[in-house]
Formats: sequence, structure tokens, C-alpha cells
Amino acid sequence: MRGVVLHAPGDVRVEQRQDPAIVEPTDAIIRLAATCVCGSDLWPYRGIAKMDGPAPMGHEYVGVVEEVGSQVSTVRPGQFVVGSFVASDNTCEICRSGYQSGCVQRVMMGAVGTQSELARIPLADGTLVATPGTPGPDLVPSLLAASDVLGTGWFGAAAAQAGPGKTVAVVGDGAVGLCAVLAARQLGAERIIAMSRHEARQRLAMEFGATDIVTERGDEGVARIKELTGGLGAHSVVEAVGTQESMTQAIRSTRPGGHVGYVGVAHDVALPGDELFFSLVHLHGGPAPVRQYLPELIELICDRRIDPGKVFDLTLPLDQAAEGYRAMDERRAVKVLLRP
Ligand SMILES: [Zn+2]
Repeated sequence: MRGVVLHAPGDVRVEQRQDPAIVEPTDAIIRLAATCVCGSDLWPYRGIAKMDGPAPMGHEYVGVVEEVGSQVSTVRPGQFVVGSFVASDNTCEICRSGYQSGCVQRVMMGAVGTQSELARIPLADGTLVATPGTPGPDLVPSLLAASDVLGTGWFGAAAAQAGPGKTVAVVGDGAVGLCAVLAARQLGAERIIAMSRHEARQRLAMEFGATDIVTERGDEGVARIKELTGGLGAHSVVEAVGTQESMTQAIRSTRPGGHVGYVGVAHDVALPGDELFFSLVHLHGGPAPVRQYLPELIELICDRRIDPGKVFDLTLPLDQAAEGYRAMDERRAVKVLLRP
């Protein structure tokens, strides 16, 4: 099969990889209908996350089951399935408490590499959720978004306790931040402030339910959020970038007693204990337990009540993955869908 391999920073190649096979009786093999490039793929692409030799890439996926292992009982060949970027058994105590991304058996799908024609999905019973029937092609981008960015934005909004009567601010206008706006809207937030200085992304944020746009960032961004919230700060802030600046901005934009949901993959973020102490904010975040939300998200998508697939503003054949990485690196594209 063909698949994306990152050889070194900036060096993305589509090459022949070995076809996956059932290794464990709990595995499934899927044929990808679509896959995509994640903002987190840019960390090794930019040389910020260190690489240890050539690596298969990708952790987002939707597709049709080709084959299942002898112990798989909840999905069968021919079904269209969506899974999270973390494979999980969905039966251990951590999974049952809603934290499948911390499953005691978890497998990070980035190690499998789903920017490819086929992929082996470990713990298929716990990981994969079948859609009701085969979805129309127009629904595929939204279902793919559910695999990571939508589920992650949803967790960010939920962790920030977005809901009725709340003012929610979202730091980060990438696909996850935009999906957090959509999630905050669905969760019933009263006011949703998207922080973005990029016109196309501001438009999509408004379409997804943002009520206000703040273009300032850093201390000026914090001051603007305070101004919009009677000097108090937002009840709920979603951090969807993962840098020191964005995390600081998120914490300082939150009112005492408020909640920060942080879902940007942290890179060299250090929190000063004294500031944290006096801030009186709740911090909750990490790799999103997307699996928890998949059944609900799939239903909302298939009922056409949400259209998170709009975050994909560039679609390319898998063979042009290198151009997809370039477009996202240069912020010419919010998110790139790859067709195997
Ligand atoms: Zn588990």
C-alpha cells in the first residue's frame, strides 16, 4: 500500500509500505475513505519535535472494515467506521470513567500511521464506532473531523465547562479551536469569543457559532477579554495551541473560579506556581478522550445538525501529501484532507 513517511523535518514522502495484517485477535484492518494532516504533525515536520529516523505519519481516519481478528465482535467487514487517534479497549476502569485516551491498554494511532491506504486498528471493539449505514460522500469530511479535531475541540469545551449562561473564549484558530467554538455552541454557551487575526478563520468561527472576535493576543488579548466580560474574565477558556504564550493567555483570560480546557499538545510549557495559585482557575485537559464523544458526534453529523467538515479547506490526493504539509505549515490551509 501507499503511505506517508516523514524522513526528516520538511521531507514528506508517499511511498510503498507493507500492507497491514491482523497481528492480535482484537485487531481490525480498515481501508481508508479519507485521512488528513493534523496540526500536531507539524511539530516533527518543523523539526521542533525530535525524530528518531523515518516515521509513518497520521492518526486520523475513517474507512471501511476489510478484515477483523477472531475476537472482534462489534464491527464487521463492510461497515463504515470512525475511530479516535487513541486506540482503547473501552472496558478498563479508566475507559469506563470516560477517559479512553488514558486507557490502560492504549495505543497511540500516530505510531501506526494512518495517512495511508490501509491501517491496522488495535483494540477494534473498543476503538471503532460504525456509522448507521454507509454515509454519503459529503458526510465523510465531517466524520473524519470527529476522529480528532472535533472530538478534541469538544473535550476542550467540556473540560472548560462550556454551557448555558457561560462566556467561552477560545485561544487558537486552528481546526481544533474552530471545532471548540462549534462545541461550545452545541453545549449551549451564551457568548463565544474566538481569538483569531485571520479573516477566513474568523468567518468560519462565526459560522460555527462565535459571537465575538478578538484579534489581539498575549497581554493585549487578555485585556480585551477582560474588557468584554466586565473586567472579570471568561467563565470558560479553551486553549488549543500548546505554546507558553497561548497557555498563559488562556489562564489569564479566565475569571477566578473559571475553567481552562487545554487541548493543544503542550511544547515547552512551564506554569509559574505562584501565578497559578492566585489565579483560582481550574485546569483540565490533555489528549482528548474522543472515543467518549464519538457516538454522539456521529449522530449529530449524520443528522446534519453540525458540519465540522468545513475545517477542511484543501483536499488533495494522498500522493500530494507533501503539498498538504506545506500548505498547513505556511497557514495557507486550516486543515488538509487526503484522499487515498
Ligand atoms: Zn481502557
